[in-house]
Amino acid sequence: ETRVKTVKDYIRTIPDFPHEGILFRDVTTLFADPRGLRLAVDQMLHPYAGLRIDKVVGLEARGFILGGAIAHQLSVGFVPVRKKGKLPGPTLGESYTLEYGEAAVEIHEDAIAGGERILLVDDLLATGGTAEAGIKLIERLGGTIMGCAFIIDLPELGGRTRLEGMGMDVHALCE
Ligand code: IMP
Repeated sequence: ETRVKTVKDYIRTIPDFPHEGILFRDVTTLFADPRGLRLAVDQMLHPYAGLRIDKVVGLEARGFILGGAIAHQLSVGFVPVRKKGKLPGPTLGESYTLEYGEAAVEIHEDAIAGGERILLVDDLLATGGTAEAGIKLIERLGGTIMGCAFIIDLPELGGRTRLEGMGMDVHALCE
């Protein structure tokens, strides 16, 4: 095999996880590979080369791994958006609906200053509910979102359309 691998080649699909009938896209195999992780980080940054980014915001939990690497590459700070109840300082929160029930995420209220230019990152965009909650938190703190970067977009679940409808620039490495 002499063909150069793409990001998709490093992603594993696990059937029936976490529920029967779900095809789980597992990026841990991408993260574990020395070429895979670098390829993903470089490609996620590619659209933003030459733009000023002040901070990277990552969505729990795989967005932390990508976001930390991306922030380091840009020499900027990293801010986590965490599931409710995990952050120790004063927070802002947003709830959103899941297929079954509700979820809530939080950000430290002093983590972003008004006017800061933010890159939002996560591993996978499905319905866009999680990303939308993160976007609302960033915007409530006065941040300007320069882009939303994902490894995988599942287009049939409508996340891209939803985020683009909010005026977001959405980039994914594969579908
Ligand atoms: P959404 O809110 O419906 O867009 O779901 C996206 C969130 O769920 C992200 O934080 C993903 O990490 C997670 N997620 C949903 N499906 C998968 C999957 O197949 N693999 C990995 N993460 C997933």
